[in-house]
Amino acid sequence: MMPENSRSPLDGINTSFSFYVEQRKAGESAHMVRGVPDYAFPLDYELRRRMKAIPGFERLCRNVLEMEETRMTQLMNYNALAVGPSQFPEIYEMGRDCARRLGIGIPNIYIVNDEVFNAKTVALDDVSPLIILYRPMVERLTPGELKCIIGHECGHVHNRHSLFVSLIDAVNPLNSSPKNIPALLLSEANRMLMNTWSRAMEVTADRAGMICADSVEDAISCNRKLVYNSLTDRDRTLDLEALRDQVEESMSNPAKMLLYAQTHPASARRIFMDIEFSECELFYRWRPELRKPETAVRTLEETNERCKKLVGLTETSLAQGR
Ligand SMILES: [Zn+2]
Repeated sequence: MMPENSRSPLDGINTSFSFYVEQRKAGESAHMVRGVPDYAFPLDYELRRRMKAIPGFERLCRNVLEMEETRMTQLMNYNALAVGPSQFPEIYEMGRDCARRLGIGIPNIYIVNDEVFNAKTVALDDVSPLIILYRPMVERLTPGELKCIIGHECGHVHNRHSLFVSLIDAVNPLNSSPKNIPALLLSEANRMLMNTWSRAMEVTADRAGMICADSVEDAISCNRKLVYNSLTDRDRTLDLEALRDQVEESMSNPAKMLLYAQTHPASARRIFMDIEFSECELFYRWRPELRKPETAVRTLEETNERCKKLVGLTETSLAQGR
């Protein structure tokens, strides 16, 4: 039994289903297109559609995810600190803001005392998703950058990405967990397909992060820190032209096929995709107040074409798209 004066981390949080439905409707009415958020990167939802069409695949993924959600929730309550109005209230507010913006349930955020510079989401649905922030994220990011990360994770929830992500984690050959048995069931080609989807999915989630963030600059500086894991914050210099040269070189390198083994786009490329989205008319439909008078915008279709090159689907020079 809990002592009478003890407080739950959920005290003060509106966890009612009616509140969730209200939020969900607000998000759906304005920005959902046939059940998919309008900012989703086309290859993301196209590959999701194809994976769902494989007989039994979605069920396998759901079973893996159910086990993972149960396991992670237990681990978090055992090892981590739950964010709430009385514990890390500023992070709780960020989660609430992002959820409200996208129209999903308020996430249950936990902070784990681990050295990984990362964050992750495990969510069977978008009612009460689980978001995990590893300690270096909380320590090394500014509040604006951290909000961008939470918005990114909320984007994974909004797009129901967890369903397939858990299987990707399970089939990762580097993962020594006993769950790795499903890896034997997938061919190398399928694994490459899932990695391609994973990179596309990250573009979608980065866009959600930008939609939720307080400024475009927060999203760019957040990805800047991801380039080098923010080992130190002393050097805040980012020369976009130098970085662009680096990205172009990686696109013309004969070993560029190596990227097909990657589950995430390189952080340098993510910076340029953030810039592309900040020049997209759709972004300002979500955040009209962030538009500066001098900002020229492109259509969503043009933006998606330009991002396709950056995510590694068509290896042509960035210069051709300028
Ligand atoms: Zn992500």
